[in-house]
Amino acid sequence: MPVDLHIHTNASDGVYTPEEVVIQASKASLEAIAITDHDTINGIVRAQEAAKNLNIEIIPGIELSAKYKDDDLHILGYYVDITKQEFLAKLTELCCGRKERTVKIIYKLHKLGIKIDLEDIVKIANNAPITRSHIAKTMVNVGIVKIKEEAFSKYMGFGKPAYVAPMTLDPLDAIKLILLADGVPVLAHPGIRNEKSMDLFNELIVSGLRGIEIYHPEHTKKQIKQYTKIAKKNNLIITGGTDFHGDNKHLHKIGSFSVSYKVVEELKYASKKHR
Ligand code: AMP
Ligand code: MN
Ligand code: MN
Ligand code: MN
Repeated sequence: MPVDLHIHTNASDGVYTPEEVVIQASKASLEAIAITDHDTINGIVRAQEAAKNLNIEIIPGIELSAKYKDDDLHILGYYVDITKQEFLAKLTELCCGRKERTVKIIYKLHKLGIKIDLEDIVKIANNAPITRSHIAKTMVNVGIVKIKEEAFSKYMGFGKPAYVAPMTLDPLDAIKLILLADGVPVLAHPGIRNEKSMDLFNELIVSGLRGIEIYHPEHTKKQIKQYTKIAKKNNLIITGGTDFHGDNKHLHKIGSFSVSYKVVEELKYASKKHR
């Protein structure tokens, strides 16, 4: 049976609650899903609770944002221990960093003559670590842009005037953080944005990377082929998922991009907790 290993809830920038996500996944007949919110594990327990009477497994996961070549690079972590205090403390720190970055974006927008309040963004985020998606939604609400995409293409996207590089976390530190939580580090959607060099892959692998997310809505056939080759050569787990958010940018339904349950077994085997 298929599994979807990349799903966001409204604990980060997804539209649906963890409970709603679980129901959708169950209706899609998935055997397992991984909740992989940006820099937070806050949706996981709720999803696990919601899944109790359903025939679906919830994999505790995370998607960490790191910085690479002035843009961001994402590392997924599977089977992270969500009770590990050092891990949770670092996530809180990352969340504070996101707030500071939001202030910088507001300042840049201000200089462009656009006024937007931190308070409004905080309300929209509703305790989730603030992403540009929340800022974009606020910009739609107050009438600065018509749709969220416009906030990225005109202002906050890479190279645009109100762009602020994401976190200060280095990709290798993101891997370390997932390992600290006994999780399995996997490179998320390498085909998106900046070109990932072979040197980077090698550095990540040496640091403990265990997999590559190959099946993703934004990957081309050519990229799938290229990354599969790298994964096989380096004995890495080949993962995939929909990167479900439930919004207009990410139109695919839960389970649209999936892999077989065998991948879950590989991830379990690779995680320290399950060995
Ligand atoms: P951040 O982690 O703060 O850099 O925010 C990035 C998030 O914004 C991503 O995880 C996407 O969910 C969302 N996003 C990125 N690009 C776009 C876009 N062009 N339109 C709408 N949402 C986007
Ligand atoms: Mn997102
Ligand atoms: Mn991502
Ligand atoms: Mn994602």
